[in-house]
Amino acid sequence: KAKDLGKNNVQFYHSGMKEQLLKRTRLEELLLSGLYRGEFEVVYQPQIVARTGQLRGFEALLRWNCPELGQVSPADFIPIAEETGAIVPIGEFVLREACRMNGELYRRFGLQPVMSVNVSPVQLKQVSFADRMIHIIRESGIPAERMELEMTENTVIDTIDTSLEWLKRMQSFGVKLAMDDFGTGYSSLSYLIRLPIHTLKIDKSFVRDMGKRRSHSILESIIQLAQRSGFKVVAEGIERSDQLQRLREWGCDYLQGYYFSKPLTADQMEEYVRLNCSRQSTAGVTM
Ligand code: C2E
Ligand code: MG
Ligand code: MG
Ligand code: MG
Repeated sequence: KAKDLGKNNVQFYHSGMKEQLLKRTRLEELLLSGLYRGEFEVVYQPQIVARTGQLRGFEALLRWNCPELGQVSPADFIPIAEETGAIVPIGEFVLREACRMNGELYRRFGLQPVMSVNVSPVQLKQVSFADRMIHIIRESGIPAERMELEMTENTVIDTIDTSLEWLKRMQSFGVKLAMDDFGTGYSSLSYLIRLPIHTLKIDKSFVRDMGKRRSHSILESIIQLAQRSGFKVVAEGIERSDQLQRLREWGCDYLQGYYFSKPLTADQMEEYVRLNCSRQSTAGVTM
């Protein structure tokens, strides 16, 4: 009996793997053709200045509306795009769109937000990709300091030889550089201060757990230490007003999360801006 069970388990395991594989190759095919068919869309999540409640800028986030698979989450397709290299043209598409939106916000509403774009480890591995990204930003006419590039700690540290050169080029070009998901990797602040990074984005897991006593004090010290080391601090994943209050008390610089807004499509952006970005508006936040 035990033997039968074992056998079944093995079979089950294999058929599961095959399914996974099929799904994967199919996804690979669909990804690139999807990019050229215009199935990718960039959505924008507001970031708020903690002290004033005003808009700091937006994070550009990729969405894939695949006619065959429906809405696919970036968590599912980005790893595959990275493996196949498709992330390079896809990443350049996001950057171009984000620059375009930034220009549109200025022309139509007089806004000068900072637009943050996620950069994949694959894009960091070659200095030539940095040059291409610089070219895209230059071509768009957006001042470099109104663009920010986000990368994760481990990405930078794993590829430190090329990424240091990459970061230096970006720094001298003038874009802002942010460490995403800060606190989940294995770097330390003493290491990060040697890199040309401007902003630390505290991972949303810390914000989620801030009701717990220890996470609470860890978060508070991270923010204070980061600020004393000269970084701007963004907290992401803010969903409730108590989180917002605490983070403001602790002196966090910028805030992002569903509490303020979910990521917005280009159409929703217009309404958001009209409602939240008049001269003295505080983006819907009671200060
Ligand atoms: P990330 O860069 O850390 O982005 C933040 C994620 O948190 C986004 O998920 C956002 O929608 C979500 N989020 C924002 N506020 C809240 C909140 O209050 N609560 C919760 N639970 N979640 C919140 P999303 O859009 O699904 O993206 C997931 C990840 O995919 C991103 O994490 C980023 O690592 C990656 N990604 C997204 N777009 C791109 C892209 O254009 N290029 C690259 N390389 N990666 C991207
Ligand atoms: Mg990010
Ligand atoms: Mg990320
Ligand atoms: Mg993050």
